[in-house]
Amino acid sequence: MNLSALTIHELNNLLKSRETSAVEITKAVFDRISSQEEKIGAYITLNREQALIDAEKADERLSGPDSGSLCGIPLSIKDVLCTRGLRTTAGSKILEPFIPPYDATVIEKLRNSGAVIVGKVSMDEFAMGSANENCAYGIPKNPWNTEYICGGSSGGSAASVAADECIASLGSDTGGSIRQPASHCGVVGLKPTYGRVSRFGLIAFASSLDQVGPLTKDVTDCAILLNAICGYDPKDSTSVKEGVPDYCSSLTDGLKGMTVGIPREYFGEGLDPEVERSILASIEKLKEAGAQICEVSLPHTEYGVAAYYIIAPAEASSNLARFDGVRYGKRDMEAESLIDMYKESRSSGFGDEVKRRIIIGTYALSSGYYDAYYKKASQVRTLIMEDYKKAFSQCDVLVSPVTPTPAWKIGEKTNDPLSVYLSDALTIPANLAGIPAMSVPCSISKAGLPIGFQIQARHFNEEALLKVGYNLEQRLDLVGKKPSI
Ligand code: GLN
Repeated sequence: MNLSALTIHELNNLLKSRETSAVEITKAVFDRISSQEEKIGAYITLNREQALIDAEKADERLSGPDSGSLCGIPLSIKDVLCTRGLRTTAGSKILEPFIPPYDATVIEKLRNSGAVIVGKVSMDEFAMGSANENCAYGIPKNPWNTEYICGGSSGGSAASVAADECIASLGSDTGGSIRQPASHCGVVGLKPTYGRVSRFGLIAFASSLDQVGPLTKDVTDCAILLNAICGYDPKDSTSVKEGVPDYCSSLTDGLKGMTVGIPREYFGEGLDPEVERSILASIEKLKEAGAQICEVSLPHTEYGVAAYYIIAPAEASSNLARFDGVRYGKRDMEAESLIDMYKESRSSGFGDEVKRRIIIGTYALSSGYYDAYYKKASQVRTLIMEDYKKAFSQCDVLVSPVTPTPAWKIGEKTNDPLSVYLSDALTIPANLAGIPAMSVPCSISKAGLPIGFQIQARHFNEEALLKVGYNLEQRLDLVGKKPSI
């Protein structure tokens, strides 16, 4: 049996019945990494020694009564989440030597549940990108075709799950960075409601948009991992004191009585015909499962990208001011004055895309331009929220493509950042509104690349996403379909 290819819930059954052990699973995952990493390049830092120690501890705990679903399960972690004692680079040279003295809250929760951290996975530098081509430590490849991008910015998370180099992963999503790579790599990815999951210890990109979430091999695993990381955290003032349901309990409910909305604007110009056909075929499956279908309108969708590419860089320009060579990471030792030290540390530490965002954000916030850019973008954001409010008075979930096209070839868009920004058009609105959204694999293109199905719901209704995702998954028979790397 190939243990690294199994899901969390399958492994949990094997662990409970003593047919395998956490150490065996962890070793299987590292064997898989040894055989695949050269082709995929998903990891920045491996945690082999500590992982085996943690797996042994998990095995002890598994012999007792309080083990839970994640005990002994090897996970990869996007390199944007602080892990105590384990290097955390955010995909940037500027943080190359950074070893956090503390754990992000989500990491602490995973450790408490007995999960095993395999290592830290690749990402676009500071989570800025859609292809994982902006990483200081190399470009991870799409396991379905290694000439193609795996998506971004949580590309290492998606690739490591798809290539069975871990059992599941945590990523972060500011404008689509969980859902888009999940879609391109044929795995499940969920961005929770803003405030549902603690951001403490998540290296900030755009604080009003960032959320941490799971990337997994199926919807059940997504519910299990979400259960483990959700909830109020006094260390994150934007986390919300809402009760957290058990996300596994409603998965198998049917879709009778549920209304599924199709947002007209998500099926416009630039949508690849094969993607469109796959989405429409999946909507038919939801109908078969008992859902009512209706058409709705989100009229301000087309302004989402423009608003996002002001708000996110503006917040980033402020968040990234802390990387000055004094407090974190790399310092230029040759500079002769303090100002030169700041300049040199930042110039050599940040990559091109990060510099571009800092310049855009600083410009947008500069005096005299604030009203024209940041304020306007915030007004657009409000209009997008109102669009959703209206739409959700007519339906329970919205369904659409995740991205207008399947993955593109590595290098194809390197000189065209604008076309990369535009590829985020269908994922950005959920972040601007703070609502939860999910990508579930729905088909494989003729060229052999996965296509994802996006589901969005109102604030704190992750249960609806999971229920619709689960019903679709059951009817599509794609789980267990693996790329031949
Ligand atoms: N692709 C978007 C960007 O580059 C979103 C990134 C993200 O969600 N972290 O900003």
